[in-house]
Amino acid sequence: MRYDYLIIGAGFAGSVMAERLASQFDKKILLVEKRNHIGGNAFDEYDEYGILVHKYGPHIFHTNSKEVFDYLSQFTEWRFYEHKVLANYQGDLFPIPINRTTINKFFDLHLTTEGEVKNFLSTKIEKRFPILNSEDIIINQVGRELFEAFFKNYTKKQWNLFPHELSPSVCGRIPVRFNDDSRYFTDKYQFMPKDGYTKMFEKMLSRKNIEIALNTDYKNVLNEIKFDKMIYTGPIDSFFDYEFGKLPYRSIKFDYEHYEKQNHQSTGQVNHVDMEEEFTRVTEYKYLTLQEAKTTTISREYSLKEGEPFYPIPTDANRALYLKYRHKTEQEKNVIFCGRLAEYQYYNMDQVVANCLHFLKSKADTI
Ligand code: FAD
Ligand code: UDP
Repeated sequence: MRYDYLIIGAGFAGSVMAERLASQFDKKILLVEKRNHIGGNAFDEYDEYGILVHKYGPHIFHTNSKEVFDYLSQFTEWRFYEHKVLANYQGDLFPIPINRTTINKFFDLHLTTEGEVKNFLSTKIEKRFPILNSEDIIINQVGRELFEAFFKNYTKKQWNLFPHELSPSVCGRIPVRFNDDSRYFTDKYQFMPKDGYTKMFEKMLSRKNIEIALNTDYKNVLNEIKFDKMIYTGPIDSFFDYEFGKLPYRSIKFDYEHYEKQNHQSTGQVNHVDMEEEFTRVTEYKYLTLQEAKTTTISREYSLKEGEPFYPIPTDANRALYLKYRHKTEQEKNVIFCGRLAEYQYYNMDQVVANCLHFLKSKADTI
């Protein structure tokens, strides 16, 4: 048996590529995944109490791309869901992103208009120019007190780096609001797959010309498989056997806990922004999945240096190391590198899908 494409990794990148190549280009695919399931980090499953949980932390789908939304809509129905996050700071709960409510509560104020909030913040902010890191970008918008309360320690816990050691793109993911909008995201499309992500992936991949090999590290089977081209979505440093050294990734330990009560917290995600608790965020999945059940399951996240690679760490030094590996990919004419790990980019799900769709469109004549 000879495959047109050997695809490594059954997350969004590998699965979208497999589905498109099979359905639009009639290619024969072998999709190899080292875990015992498809879906990559978006994998979800019912726990022993019948609650749908995300195995690798909360995955909330949001996008401004109609193309991405329409594409995925072929494989799932959706439930409307707008994510809301509270920060637990010294035992009190505050909306995140920082908005007017956060500011009023934190400074004991009664600001009512966006203009009042802007004026107030202008007395707090320290102008930073150029914006070189994640501390600059936040202090430039809200000043030191809010930065220290809500960003400094949480970021240290999450990355084991302080914000000034990280690219502005990390904390810059979180906007600052002058109104009372407490939604985490403001994208046009904010939905969760009605029956979960895993079901969506199952539908994407159930085609006769896609074969899936789970529990298989491609390095152990590469010599036995005949194929024309490879698509690689695993960690790029691993592909090149760590020739230039290991690229740092952040890992996470997820501790799940079940409670015999309707709810554990008042919203889907609570960020513990103080150093006292070692964990970062607590997710209560029922809010995200809109599942109706009498009991509930949460996860607490402990950020780790070692373990499965989850987050590329955006620093200048890591980017420089990544670029050395990327340079080497140019010699691999038969391999396409895509996804969060292979491109060492802090991508959201929709960005990965968009990149794959665009890649295939732009290269349609050479597929
Ligand atoms: P992955 O999902 O990591 O898939 C890569 C696959 O390759 C994995 O399944 C891996 O097992 C496999 N693999 C690696 N090496 C090998 C090998 N040697 N052999 C075989 N298989 C291999 N995005 C959002 O849009 N919204 C969110 O709310 C959100 N929350 C997140 C929360 C957490 C905790 C994390 C870690 C990420 C979150 N993301 C979120 C990002 C999202 O997970 C990624 O954008 C998406 O999963 C990337 O897909 P991918 O296919 O590139 O990578
Ligand atoms: N962040 C923070 N406090 C918060 C929320 C976020 O300091 O309450 C910082 C932290 O460094 C985090 C980054 O902003 O890693 C991006 O947050 P996001 O919620 O996008 O993280 P992700 O969902 O990717 O883990």
